[in-house]
Amino acid sequence: MLEIRQLSKVYEAGETPVQALREVDLTIERGEFVAIVGPSGCGKTTLLQICGGMEHPTAGSVLVGGTELQRLDDRSLTRWRRRQVGFVFQFFNLLPTLVAWENVALPLLLDGVGSASARRVADEMLNQVGLSHRANHLPQQMSGGEMQRVAIARALVHQPALIIADEPTGNLDSANGARILELLSTLQKDLQVTLMLATHAEEIASAAESVIHLRDGKVERRDRHQDTFQSRH
Ligand code: ADP
Ligand code: MG
Repeated sequence: MLEIRQLSKVYEAGETPVQALREVDLTIERGEFVAIVGPSGCGKTTLLQICGGMEHPTAGSVLVGGTELQRLDDRSLTRWRRRQVGFVFQFFNLLPTLVAWENVALPLLLDGVGSASARRVADEMLNQVGLSHRANHLPQQMSGGEMQRVAIARALVHQPALIIADEPTGNLDSANGARILELLSTLQKDLQVTLMLATHAEEIASAAESVIHLRDGKVERRDRHQDTFQSRH
């Protein structure tokens, strides 16, 4: 599903360039739930943004489902991203002037789906995240956990192949964080979508099938759940 080869990223902003990723190699299977962990500044967000086609690498390549992202021009990359990727962010990133169902419908509307059918699909998706009763509420009228559930519905509404979640529980208390994580991993399995989730909370990482430890822009190690199980027993 996802082949990352010799991926490097240098940010040139400011006086001294910052090397955020150093020759990262990774393979992620279709339908796999992978957690990316490591201290702040180790390159998690950079890795996710490049895999989601939001940021360009300095060197190396990313192949997603046979598409080599670096070969796409900006227009094709934007189209690819709108169809194939769903994003979930730490601060939800809902549009404040749109009610819940409108936020969820947005990826469909941007892709040219008619408004009546976008509404129908958005309502169905809100139902799947347990928020039918909030369809006509603005983000400011919802709790953090509810806003993140709306954001998850938005991320999945267009049936993407890949979900990118960057610290999705980072702005929630632990009970709400645990609920969001459970929802994400349930939907990920039901819909068989690939999930890359960055976090610095170890307990969240344990829900993943595979945990990639990043340090200073490099993959330090990768634990697969089966391996950790075998090493403990
Ligand atoms: P993480 O998500 O693990 O905290 P990031 O990928 O955000 O790590 O950042 C990795 C490194 O790249 C950090 O040193 C950070 O300061 C730097 N960095 C991230 N984004 C930018 C940017 N737009 N311009 C310059 N430096 C950046
Ligand atoms: Mg980050």
